[in-house]
Amino acid sequence: FPRPVQTYKDFKANHQESSGTNSSERVNATFVTLARNSDLWDMVKSIRTVEDRFNRDYNYDWVFLNDQEFDDDFKKLTTALVSGKTHYGLIPKEHWSYPDWIDQDKASEARQEMDRKKIIYGGSESYRHMCRYESGFFFRHPLMMNYEYYWRVEPSIELFCDIRADPFRFMKENDKKYSFVISLYEYEATIPSLWDSVRKFMQNHPEHISEDNAMDFISDNGGETYNKCHFWSNFEIGSLEWLRSKQYIDYFESLDQDGGFFYERWGDAPVHSIAAATMLRKDQIQFFHDIAYYHVPFTHCPNDEKTRLDLRCSCKPKDNFDWRDYSCTNKWFKVNHLERPNGWDKKD
Ligand code: GDP
Ligand code: MN
Repeated sequence: FPRPVQTYKDFKANHQESSGTNSSERVNATFVTLARNSDLWDMVKSIRTVEDRFNRDYNYDWVFLNDQEFDDDFKKLTTALVSGKTHYGLIPKEHWSYPDWIDQDKASEARQEMDRKKIIYGGSESYRHMCRYESGFFFRHPLMMNYEYYWRVEPSIELFCDIRADPFRFMKENDKKYSFVISLYEYEATIPSLWDSVRKFMQNHPEHISEDNAMDFISDNGGETYNKCHFWSNFEIGSLEWLRSKQYIDYFESLDQDGGFFYERWGDAPVHSIAAATMLRKDQIQFFHDIAYYHVPFTHCPNDEKTRLDLRCSCKPKDNFDWRDYSCTNKWFKVNHLERPNGWDKKD
């Protein structure tokens, strides 16, 4: 497949119909990463892939957040690699500790019990603070307050295709509030009482529940029980203004009062997903077919060969997780009456 003899910028300019934007038309948006200093080398890989496939042409900022101070090595290298401005924030203690209504002995017993049952991250205290922080706080860190949209990036991810059209701009122009590339089923053992808590919130706040929402994606019986489908939140492009809205804050605070971030091990993925599926219209949630993505252990790779060649993708289509049994993306397509992409049933 011949590479055009021109710069990447020229190439994009010749593909206005598929890109239609450039860095002078940037949206008020930032990448955001929660990380430890020890994540540096895994983070470097993620930054390179994001820059190479997208951000070198857009130069969006990047906010790094940590419950401890970032060290100079972390700041020096990440600043060198990011084409936009970088900002480093310390998470305030109140956002990474136990609220006063939590019984810490009960929380500790729950961790030991889940550790004995070999539930993933079941025994980890820091993982719980992380999930609660991603669920309820990152979007109101002072460094995030000036931005309208965010793109969450974790260490050691990979992007396999060029991104020629600005997803931030797409989100804004089309009134999208949340997006995903991979969806799957949550482990029941991490969220036994989450749905009860959600139901209580919905009863107390019917005004926050949207018409034409995506309830059918997360429930197979009109909201009686949760089917455990969720968007995989290690990738997210979303609206910060939505997360900062009264609607979302009421939701988070109601769940937080019930204590499941500590007494169970509620993940930010089901928490964000349930919020999106109940409080947004379903057309405000975007599935980005063309953003090819990997976070251990799952890959999203476009089925359609033309897309893969046009976008110079390096992923193997047979690694695509979308239509496997453990994925919920099939359900997303059914609920939205979408046609699966060309080549979805190809086995090689
Ligand atoms: P997994 O993807 O669910 O296996 O969890 P990760 O270990 O990737 O953690 C999710 C995100 O939170 C990543 O961006 C991590 O770098 C970050 N993270 C996890 N634990 C901590 C922590 O204790 N402190 C900080 N600052 N970041 C954390
Ligand atoms: Mn991760």
